[in-house]
Amino acid sequence: MEATRIKKLPPYLFARIEKKIEEAKEKGIDIISFGIGDPDMPTPQPIIDELCKEANNTINHQYPSSVGMLSFRQAVSDYYKTNFGVELDPRKEVINLIGSKEGIGHINFCYVDPGDINLVPDPGYPVYGIGTLLAGGEVYPMPLLEKNGFIPDLTKIPEEVARKAKLMFINYPNNPTGAVAGKEFFVEVVDFAKKYNIIVCHDAAYTEIAFDDYRPTSFLEIPGAKEVGVEFGSLSKPFNMTGWRVGWVVGRQDVVECLGRLKSNIDSGQFQAIQYAAIKGLTESKDNINEICKIYKSRRDKIIEGLNRMGWNLSKPKGTFYIWAPIPKGYTSASFAEYVLEKAGVIVTPGSGYGEYGEGYFRISITIPDERISEGLARLEKNLGKVEF
Ligand SMILES: *Cc1c(COP(=O)(O)O)cnc(C)c1O
Repeated sequence: MEATRIKKLPPYLFARIEKKIEEAKEKGIDIISFGIGDPDMPTPQPIIDELCKEANNTINHQYPSSVGMLSFRQAVSDYYKTNFGVELDPRKEVINLIGSKEGIGHINFCYVDPGDINLVPDPGYPVYGIGTLLAGGEVYPMPLLEKNGFIPDLTKIPEEVARKAKLMFINYPNNPTGAVAGKEFFVEVVDFAKKYNIIVCHDAAYTEIAFDDYRPTSFLEIPGAKEVGVEFGSLSKPFNMTGWRVGWVVGRQDVVECLGRLKSNIDSGQFQAIQYAAIKGLTESKDNINEICKIYKSRRDKIIEGLNRMGWNLSKPKGTFYIWAPIPKGYTSASFAEYVLEKAGVIVTPGSGYGEYGEGYFRISITIPDERISEGLARLEKNLGKVEF
């Protein structure tokens, strides 16, 4: 018999579309997938070379420290100083994670008791809510509405909910909406968190994926942020390293320490050779980030212009590699995704998979090569014609 915490997990919303994808593949249909947010380009060579070198060093074959090597934590601290002007003590305010998703999931076990509330963006990266549920907590959704630029309206959170809330998850540049947040929103979050004694968890997975001279803010740049929260960072997106599983959490000392303490009881850290490779990325691969942002920008422009020719009226997102678009009249998110898969052999992600406020939208990930983008757009145009809303 499965445990209640497993039985309480919401049904997997992409199950139906994944079954359709399987069926199409079995029939030999050529599928173009805008579905998965996973970089298609390879990890930069110097990072791979560093992994190979360190994998050959037998010292690295033993258990690592569960919070990460000091040299890794120092590299993260230096990265924050250089990029955001934020000072971090590598011994107390930085730990290594086995990918940021790991830490985002586990932090719930540090602070959430059964019945506690977490504030979770909707639509949002599913782990915030799932982690909450696994720890026995309850999700209070913060709607991300188009009319508010997909930024939560904190004034709409009822007083009694705010007083009970333990964690608040936020994420800018945002998956799935591609929205970015200005400093003033983060200032509001710091004030709110102070007032209600809430721990802020900012998911900064996309702070390096930005366009048009826009530079995303680190939450920790905001005065007082380090007293109320932490920031989760990842090498996955900027260095095309999703498969490597390496990230960090930084910020409020007792929170970082608590997550480290939990982790020391359930995992034994990340392979040191991977940490060395990550240091190489953080210290020497800035050019590579500029290069991939240029590629994403040109793909973004191509898709936005293509969709707008079909009748959408989208502006270009300033960050992430996602495009979040309303579905045409006559469909739900799910029926639209099924329609374009069946008619055009194109996969888009139904917005409803990211929460109830994602209904009415679909997400396109631009992590596929140019010629596949052109082909995908041509197929959409052929099958949808002019769209109406
Ligand atoms: C990709 C992604 C992550 C990252 O994950 P890793 O576990 O570090 O690979 C975190 N948050 C969001 C919103 C993402 O899209």
